[in-house]
Amino acid sequence: SREFHVVVLGAGGVGKSCITAQFVHNEWIESYDPTIEDSYRTQVSVDGRQVILEILDTAGTEQFVAMRDLYMKSGQGFLLVFSITSKSSLQELVGLREEIIRIKDDVDIPIVIVGNKADLEDQRQVDRAKAFSVSQRWNAPYYETSARTRSNVDECFTDLCRQLLRR
Ligand code: GDP
Ligand code: MG
Repeated sequence: SREFHVVVLGAGGVGKSCITAQFVHNEWIESYDPTIEDSYRTQVSVDGRQVILEILDTAGTEQFVAMRDLYMKSGQGFLLVFSITSKSSLQELVGLREEIIRIKDDVDIPIVIVGNKADLEDQRQVDRAKAFSVSQRWNAPYYETSARTRSNVDECFTDLCRQLLRR
């Protein structure tokens, strides 16, 4: 089976840890320590192929830019997460994506754009169409997820695995 390093990136509070916990452990954690940065190893089956994922749930607490450079360098696939309830969290992905492309020196890095907190429709600040057009410009798929209801959580990781397997 093949093994890939996946990095979960995005602004603080968008749900990176909750999505990771749902995917890896099938559990909803209401309140996660925002400073915890950890990696999780999990095995998944994608189209009948076994894939081992080493998932780094980042916390944006690096004291040195060099730290982030390091994990971006070792990352092979990236989940770029924002919250549909926060316009600025989508804006933050612009810089993160540029940094990935700069560090990997490759414009075809496997990336999935994730609009989380889809269960909070009444607090939506980012139109689905707007996020979708951004993702198309970046040549990346777009998923709206809810870590709370587990909606689309498997789908976004599976999509990333398919991209990784194609490389
Ligand atoms: P991180 O800083 O990106 O790791 O964000 P967390 O995973 O710690 O989540 C931040 C807050 O958002 C927590 O209070 C979660 O309960 C909440 N949260 C995360 N995902 C969702 C979601 O899909 N729906 C709702 N309603 N709340 C969420
Ligand atoms: Mg977190």
